[in-house]
Formats: sequence, structure tokens, C-alpha cells
Amino acid sequence: MIEELKLIRPGEIRVRIAPSPTGPFHIGLARTALFNYLFAQKYQGSFILRIEDTNIKRSKKRWENEILEGLKWLGIEWQEGPDCGGSYGPYRQSERKEIYKKYIEKLLKEGEIYYCFCTPEELEAHRQYLMSISQPVRYSGKCRELSDQEVKRNLAGGKSYVLRFKTLLKKVSFKDMLRGKIDCQSEIFGDIVVAKDISTPLYNLACVIDDYEMKITHIIRGEDHISNTPKQILLAEALKIKTPKYLHLPLILDQDRAKLSKRDRIKSVLEYKKDGFFPETMINFLAFLGWNPGTQKEIFSLNTLVQEFSLDKIQKSGAEFNPQKLDWLNGFYIRSKSIEKLTEFCLPYLIEKQLIIPQFKTEQYPPAYGAEIIIQKFKIKETGEEISLNYLQKVIALYQERLKKLSEIPELIDFFFQKELDYSKELLRGMSDARQPEIVEKEIKNNLDKAKKTLQKIKPGNWKKENLEKSLLKLAEEVGKGDRGKVLWPLRVALTGREASAGPFEIAELLGKEKTLERIKKAIKKL
Ligand code: GLU
Repeated sequence: MIEELKLIRPGEIRVRIAPSPTGPFHIGLARTALFNYLFAQKYQGSFILRIEDTNIKRSKKRWENEILEGLKWLGIEWQEGPDCGGSYGPYRQSERKEIYKKYIEKLLKEGEIYYCFCTPEELEAHRQYLMSISQPVRYSGKCRELSDQEVKRNLAGGKSYVLRFKTLLKKVSFKDMLRGKIDCQSEIFGDIVVAKDISTPLYNLACVIDDYEMKITHIIRGEDHISNTPKQILLAEALKIKTPKYLHLPLILDQDRAKLSKRDRIKSVLEYKKDGFFPETMINFLAFLGWNPGTQKEIFSLNTLVQEFSLDKIQKSGAEFNPQKLDWLNGFYIRSKSIEKLTEFCLPYLIEKQLIIPQFKTEQYPPAYGAEIIIQKFKIKETGEEISLNYLQKVIALYQERLKKLSEIPELIDFFFQKELDYSKELLRGMSDARQPEIVEKEIKNNLDKAKKTLQKIKPGNWKKENLEKSLLKLAEEVGKGDRGKVLWPLRVALTGREASAGPFEIAELLGKEKTLERIKKAIKKL
């Protein structure tokens, strides 16, 4: 067991995520948020959201909003944050300048940081030089010893500057709760820039001040921040403040064990929402990015995770991002929904693709997650025909087993709502017959004609899947002489216009007698 966990008393945990709102709310951040949230929940602690927007040029309100919206959609709730406040606010770094100023002035006064007036050209030349002799790139220390007068003169002359940390050259060691002792030589980074001016710290310094001010007890963040930790520890030492405990989560890798592609790294969690993944799918998926319960159990809700998640079971090696697993999980959650609920979730996609038009209260779309559905009637856009919610439920039910994400539903069921189906006679013919196409086509035409006659005899009142199946299977056995596909394949193509679909009997039942016969006639005409 992780040593530190033994000492935790309920209620004392304070963890945070500290995203910079400079891009979409991506999987990596969502995973860090979930792990912090679960850790806090387990020990009745607090989970805090802090927006690190010190880079005003790159920070955008829209990304901050997206982070909040994404977390809410996932059901990850924070107790303190920019929207709800808290005892240690403000929770947006751009609003904490007064706080930073106190600390930066103190560091300056105590000689821990210094003014650096080097120009970008000078810094670049030094960088090139270090690279040419294969040395780590770090500041030369040129402005370290400037006299007070020189600094004053430069400032008065309006020279631009940054504030650098007088890094002590030494070995910095810290304990990562997962990885044990980690050592780093501070020479590698040297005198880093810690602030742009007296009230604008850069990431490392702002982070140290905020984590201290906000009484953060544990920092759980991605492995990519391991190199920042020694810098933050030295800064905390200079400020004479206590550091939190650290745990760095494993990198998220693609299936070839390489770094996740940029596309997947920056893909917004809200894109997954748009694609028709459920929040419960995402939570379940995110939990396994670096954690597993040590059993075969694969399905976890947020609530069960709160009970069963433990930092102890986090792995050190990279966590594999497996899109097939994501689809599989979503399929599971799709199958576990009632057909009423599933239909409700599918409706916005069908309406957006303009297959159906709701008959009233369009303004209710898209319905909020879990909203009660009140629209009972729809019109098929192409035919103007009216259909009920119940009818749609039956159509969608045909695909509940195989649906992987909600956005796939329009293309799976659009043939129910199309006036004309677009398919070739080659598709009607199928692939496997080696005979002359003309001979096969003639046979198929005949078979479809027989199917049509068989169906014509069924009274509308008996137009039920079971009856259709009985009559058509009988016909297919007789005609196909052991190969039922000779009737059923072209029949299915005639009704759907596609290579793969649900079975022909269920489809025929839902299309109704008139449309079924009409589609068979059209297929016959093609041949
Ligand atoms: N603003 C940093 C980021 O977005 C926060 C890192 C940290 O958790 O300290 O990566």
C-alpha cells in the first residue's frame, strides 16, 4: 500500500486540477480530473477547480467554459472553483495578482529572484552556443549579479525585463507516491524565469503560491509535469512554505505504445458527447486509463468508482488509449438503456439529419440529459408521412444491439424514411454467385416476384413479423432448395437498399404492407 494513504484522516484531503484554458477539454485533463475527484470523494475531501490563465494571450473564455461544461457533463463536481467560489478564492489566476505581488516582492527583497534584462537575441545566441557544445540549455546567469544601481538605471530607462529564480545548484529529491524517490540536478534547468513582472508569475511560481494558499494536500497530475516538480520544490523552499505530496499519473499512449496523436490528445471531451458517447461510458473509460481494479470487472459507474478506486492500483507504465474499448463500453451502456430512453437520446441526431421533423415544441431539442420526452409525433421529411414516437422506438429497437454510438443511428435507419432507395442491381444479385449475371438476375427477379405474391396474400391485420417470417421462410426453403439466401438476400436489399441491416421480417413489419410491396416492385423493375 502507498505509505501516505495510511495516514489520511477523512475530510483533510484537498486536491485540485489546474487547467490552462488554452485549448479544448481533452481526455488527459478529464482523466486527471476524475482521479483527483475520486481520491477526494473517497476520503470526504475537497476537489478544487483552479483556472491557470496567466498567459492572457493564449487563454480564452470559451475554453474555460468548455472545461466547466465538460466536467459537469461527466458528473465530476468541484467544491471550490471560479463559478462557485470558496474560502481560498479567487480561483482564476488572472484575478490573484495582489496575492502574487506579496510573494514576488518578498522573493526579490530576499534576493531569491532577480531582474534579467537580457534581450531575446542574446538569449538565443547563448542557447545556440550551449547546443553546439551539447550542454543543457539554461540561462548564463549574466544578470544575476547586477548592482542595485544598474537595475534601477535599466528600469528607469524602460528596459524590458523578466524575473529569474536564483536556482541553487544541487540535487533535488522528492517522493512520488507512485514512483518512489525521484532525483533531479537543478543544473539542468538553471535560473528559470518565474515572473513577467512584480504581479505576474509564470506557471511554476503561480502554481506553488496557489497550491500553498489553497491548502492543497496532494498534487495528482500527469507524468509530463515530473520535470516541473523539482522547480516547484525549490521555489517552495525559497518561499519557506510546505509542499504537498505528489503523484504523477502515467502518460496516455496509443495502441502502438507511442504518444497519443495530437488529434486524440486535443480532441475535446465534448466531441465525444457530440459523437453520441454517454458520460457514463467516458467515466468508465477514463478510469481505466492508468488504473484497474485488479479483477476482471470492467463496468464501473461513477458511484462504484468512488467506492472501489484507490491510488494504490494506479500503474506506472503508460496507459493505453483503446478506441475499440470505448466503442464497446458505449455499446454496453446503449444496450442497458430502456428503449424509451435510448430513443430520446437518438432523436436529436435524427432531427439534425432531417430524417424526421418533430411536430411540436422543436425548441425543446436537444433535450437535456435525462429530460422527459414530450414530443409524441413526427413527420418523415421526405414523404410527409406522420409517425409516432412509439413507431420510432420500434425502429430504433432493431438496432439497439449493434449500435456503438448515437451518431450512427441516422445512417443505420435512414432507409425507413427515404422515398427512393439508392442501390445497384449488383447489390441485389449478391456477390457469391459464379453464374452469368443475366441468369442470376432472372432468378432473383422470379424469386422477388414470388415473395411479392406471398406477401400480397397476408392481410394487413396479420402483418406481423412472425407471420411474415413463417410465410417467407416457407417460400425461401421451396425456392432456394436449401439456400434461403436466394430469396432473403434480394428481399432484404429491396427493402433496405443496403448490404447490411437488421433482418427482413422485422423490417417488413415496420415498413408496413404497402411500402414493403412497393419496394419489392421497384427492385423487380431494376432487374
Ligand atoms: N496549468 C497546468 C496545466 O494545464 C497545471 C499543471 C498542474 O497540475 O500543476 O498543465
